[in-house]
Amino acid sequence: MQRTLSIIKPDAVARNLLGAICVRFEQAGLAIVAARMMHLTREQAEGFYAIHRERPFFKDLVEFMRSGPILVLILEGDEAVRKNREIMGATNPAEALAGTIRHDYAETIDANAVHGSDAPETAQQEIEFFFEQDEIFSRN
Ligand code: UDP
Repeated sequence: MQRTLSIIKPDAVARNLLGAICVRFEQAGLAIVAARMMHLTREQAEGFYAIHRERPFFKDLVEFMRSGPILVLILEGDEAVRKNREIMGATNPAEALAGTIRHDYAETIDANAVHGSDAPETAQQEIEFFFEQDEIFSRN
């Protein structure tokens, strides 16, 4: 049993895709064990994506992530990190496999509908960035 952090990004929230995307997680056997809707400040967006600080797209990424509300989720299940990455699809929706969230719902490489932790260690850090222990409702 593993946990991962998912974010439904501003583009997907704005296009009323919350339900459609959450169904994908649940159908893949991932339980939503924590959820918070929020509008990131610049500081929060910069902090969350600090690992990308030197990348050319960093400023635009921060602006995009604070352009509207997001839904932050913790997903729990067997191999949650890998499974979530699989159903999200590639970073660039043009390269994402048919049937993945990004293929079906994302429009561009920057506005790409969802975030998902890329490894168990980063999942732990990202979960702690957003949630306290008493906000997590494990199914186990
Ligand atoms: N991103 C971007 N341009 C790029 C690469 C990434 O705008 O050329 C954005 C995109 O929103 C992506 C995020 O930065 O989801 C983080 O990039 P990463 O390579 O970690 O991709 P992910 O793990 O989200 O698939």
